[in-house]
Amino acid sequence: MKVPELFGSMVFNDAVMKERLPKDVYKTLRKTIIQGTALDPEIANVVANAMKDWALSKGATHFTHWFQPMTGVTAEKHDSFISPCADGTVIMEFSGKELIKGEPDASSFPSGGLRATFEARGYTAWDPTSYAFIKDQTLCIPTAFCSYTGQILDKKTPLLRSMDAISNQACRVLKLFGKNVRRVTTTVGPEQEYFLIDKKDYAKRPDLILTGRTLFGAMAPKGQEMEDHYFGSIRPRVKRFMEDLDEELWKLGICSKTEHNEVAPCQHEMAPIFSTTNIATDHNQLAMEVMKKVADRHGFVCLLHEKPFEGVNGSGKHNNWSISTDTGENLLEPGKSPSSNAQFLLFLTAVIKAVDEYQDLLRISVANAGNDHRLGANEAPPAIVSMFVGDELEAILESIISGTDYTDVTRTMMNVGASVLPDIPKDSTDRNRTSPFAFTGNKFEFRMLGSTFNIACPNVMLNTAVAEELRQFAEELEAAADFDKALAALVQREVTAHQRIIFNGNGYGEEWPAEAERRGLLNLHSTPDALPHYTDKKNIRLFQNHGVYTEVEMRSRQEIGLEEYSKTIHIEALTSIDMLGKLILPAVLEYSGKLAENVAVKKSIGVNAPAETAMVQTLTDKAAALADKKAALETVLANVPADTEAAAHYYHDSVIAAMDDARAIADELEMMVGKKYWPFPTYGDLLFYV
Ligand code: ADP
Ligand code: MG
Repeated sequence: MKVPELFGSMVFNDAVMKERLPKDVYKTLRKTIIQGTALDPEIANVVANAMKDWALSKGATHFTHWFQPMTGVTAEKHDSFISPCADGTVIMEFSGKELIKGEPDASSFPSGGLRATFEARGYTAWDPTSYAFIKDQTLCIPTAFCSYTGQILDKKTPLLRSMDAISNQACRVLKLFGKNVRRVTTTVGPEQEYFLIDKKDYAKRPDLILTGRTLFGAMAPKGQEMEDHYFGSIRPRVKRFMEDLDEELWKLGICSKTEHNEVAPCQHEMAPIFSTTNIATDHNQLAMEVMKKVADRHGFVCLLHEKPFEGVNGSGKHNNWSISTDTGENLLEPGKSPSSNAQFLLFLTAVIKAVDEYQDLLRISVANAGNDHRLGANEAPPAIVSMFVGDELEAILESIISGTDYTDVTRTMMNVGASVLPDIPKDSTDRNRTSPFAFTGNKFEFRMLGSTFNIACPNVMLNTAVAEELRQFAEELEAAADFDKALAALVQREVTAHQRIIFNGNGYGEEWPAEAERRGLLNLHSTPDALPHYTDKKNIRLFQNHGVYTEVEMRSRQEIGLEEYSKTIHIEALTSIDMLGKLILPAVLEYSGKLAENVAVKKSIGVNAPAETAMVQTLTDKAAALADKKAALETVLANVPADTEAAAHYYHDSVIAAMDDARAIADELEMMVGKKYWPFPTYGDLLFYV
């Protein structure tokens, strides 16, 4: 296999465009892609035709507009290229109109009330900044998804808008440093965690099939305590999966770079090389899909759920994020000269202020039922948003606040940027793995995301919040008579005001929540606690001002989030009831019945059977208790309040508690019932296959 030839072979990328498009068309399209200018409809036909010819040469027969509705997963509706002719034959056609716009039936996608209000039919619109690609003999065209009245119904549109917002404001700020930059983009490298389990075991677990996680299961005799899986040698079967996965991802132009084992048994990670946020988002969606498909080919099931197994670390996603110019400058790279220092410190200050003022939005962007199991459970960062900057940078910020000189072993820095900042080695900034938002030398790593997430939302929050701070800074500095003085004053003032968000200590520590409370930081424990803050006045103002969301769009998203949370737990509760009634209780009764027969037989021939007798009694008592808990769960589930927000809280407080009560007894019973009577594979079977 020749990797360079394989790489991107299924992507209508720049090289293919250059080769297949007339020069002037190629140039116009490039301009649209790089500068984010509007697409010239004139060229659409030419592009569509070239795309079709290329796709046919790769064996494609169909095309689809590929989009990301608010369900979080991607959607597609396939049409064939076939167009009938008068003489009964067909030709393969694809018009510019079909490339630019599609009209999938929007009614079955969540809209959070948007459609009811606006009678909105949906349409999809080509996003030329993300390359078209071929998947399963289908030409996939990345698109945005909107209603006819213009309300956005997807995750890509707000992301593109937020990228415009931060670009506009960052360019303004850079102008003050004498730089004429036309476009600034945010870049993201998302590290993706996942579990691989055997397909045969999966097929026997209704909870995994219906909810993506195990709702029952006693801990296996061995868990992750030996720490022998992390970076450990990879099982040959898994190794073959990873090789195949890399190949499939490379074909799609996804730079999968590292594959390794994670902390939990059967847990692995895939990290790509970073790209612009929009493409990173599309690629991460694709990667998750490809992982599942490739797993299937290898007799595995790929679990992307945030918490497939209780008592075993769950899966997350690290969103490595930075800002760079179209001239190739990383704006979060500490400078090598006094003026680039000052520029770095200004962008750093914008991020600090943004994370502090919009803690709630960052928290909301990582809130769902699955991730609630992880955040604050000592396996992922706490639910409290804070920032880690490392010792050097913190010392520099301290000296800025106190107005004293910063001195390290080799040099002194007076005022903002008056001397060269020390090089900040990556290892000194990367030691803290417990921080939700860590500076790692030239980028920030947002570590709170759950493994199933579409990364668009967290990046919409980050981009827009930082855009707002840059806007404020630009306004102030544009009006200043003495730029250097104004800049130094601004940085000092804002770092002082938002210092509370910086925490370099142990995020898992018991003292931290109390300390965070003293600092006035938010601690939004659960999804129902977090989501209502979405439409706080300051947040509506933020998104409106930057043209990212209207208030109506925000309310719809909030409602969808709350409903999705309640629905998820509702399905889990119904699945629990089902498994208790149809699998677990019957197994316990069968086993205890068998024991009771043994006891009777033994007694009939005058043999005492104290062990069996005691076991029958305990099993019978516990089965009764379990039946009670099942009935209690049914009652709880029958009394869900109608109001969306109240319902979400009720699912969190009452339904989950009732499920946990039943599970505790079921898991005890699992330890007492003979293996061949237990109706589904145990944690030991699932996690320690060969
Ligand atoms: P770790 O496991 O230590 O967190 P990795 O090297 O596995 O680090 O992942 C780091 C991720 O950060 C990679 O996806 C990498 O491409 C990405 N990254 C590096 N530089 C940038 C940048 N400037 N912007 C965004 N992401 C970046
Ligand atoms: Mg990481």
